[in-house]
Amino acid sequence: MSAPAGADLLVRNIGRLLPMTGPPVESAALAIQNGLVSWYGPAADLPERHGDVSELDAEGACVVPGFVDAHTHLPWAGSRRRDLEERLAGVPYEAILARGGGIHSTVAATRAASFDELVALTTARARLMLANGTTTAEVKTGYGLTRDDELRLLDVVAAVAAGTALRVEPTYLGAHAVPPDRDRADYVAEVVATLPAAQARGARWCDAFCDRGAFTVGEARTVLAAARDAGLGTRLHADQLARIGATGLAAELGCASADHLDHLDAEGAQALAAAGVVAVLLPACTLTIGEPTWDAARHLRAAGATIALGTDCNPGTSWCESMPYVVQLACLAYGLPVAEAFRAATLGSAQALRRNDVGHLGVGARGDLAVLEAEHEADLVAHLGARPVRATVVGGVVTT
Ligand SMILES: [Zn+2]
Repeated sequence: MSAPAGADLLVRNIGRLLPMTGPPVESAALAIQNGLVSWYGPAADLPERHGDVSELDAEGACVVPGFVDAHTHLPWAGSRRRDLEERLAGVPYEAILARGGGIHSTVAATRAASFDELVALTTARARLMLANGTTTAEVKTGYGLTRDDELRLLDVVAAVAAGTALRVEPTYLGAHAVPPDRDRADYVAEVVATLPAAQARGARWCDAFCDRGAFTVGEARTVLAAARDAGLGTRLHADQLARIGATGLAAELGCASADHLDHLDAEGAQALAAAGVVAVLLPACTLTIGEPTWDAARHLRAAGATIALGTDCNPGTSWCESMPYVVQLACLAYGLPVAEAFRAATLGSAQALRRNDVGHLGVGARGDLAVLEAEHEADLVAHLGARPVRATVVGGVVTT
């Protein structure tokens, strides 16, 4: 169906509305015209309307902008259940990767899957994201790791965007891992050579995994500088496993975002803030990998950096389609105040994708919103393990 072109919808009986462009409104209503927000305010001030308009009764619930998931690895096949058992037994992630687990086992399963299988698997994940209130998501390739397999994954992403209401920002992540059977320099050259084709197949972004055991700062610079020259936006997996200078590279290149940041220090946070690089935190991954430092948010807040949130949805280190769960972790593990966590999950993540039409409900924004199963956003954070979202609206159309 793809994101609806635009419908009219009146959302009534909103107990509490978080527009993000202004203070919360109690006892509110919100109108969407042709898929865009045309009015919001206290229900008592709702202008009189003429003609038939579809209505959604929020039944006193809290309404927030549709969540923006700033970082996912959605198209994959296979399972990483063996990795989980090993990790629970104390085996570090890098050791799992070294024995052919981790990304490499997912690459093998993804290459072996048919196009239709990959579309079906990825569509199911996109639907689960919508059911959890996510209306826009960044979606990376990265489990193909040959030119043809990576381009096929971009086609999968395009098919999923066309078949669901989710707004998708496709990212080419050929620089996810060096395939074990490839020469490093040769593989980096192939990633660079694939950039024009990736862009032609719908990629808007290029990302690289710059970390100990992944790509070096020099290799990531080669890939992202070429991507920037080709007209793609850039983002970077940085400071996840170790501090090797990736945040400095993101600042140097002016990347839209630096993501993960588990080993970020105060200096790195200041560099990101000064360069206007949005910091994307992925707490479900930090929790899964089991070496949580949980210091990044403190450094970023002190530096005044823009914080975004993502699920990092992937089969091994963060199998999570739920932004509400990520918001809970952002508050309970990182210690972000509730208002800042919701802001990060909407406005902050939209900024990480350089979009100003989503992530808020100001007049003229996309009519994308989530009706929470809560009267107040703080109740969503406190209520663990419950269904978080009652209804999701994309472009004025109720999708779930
Ligand atoms: Zn990632």
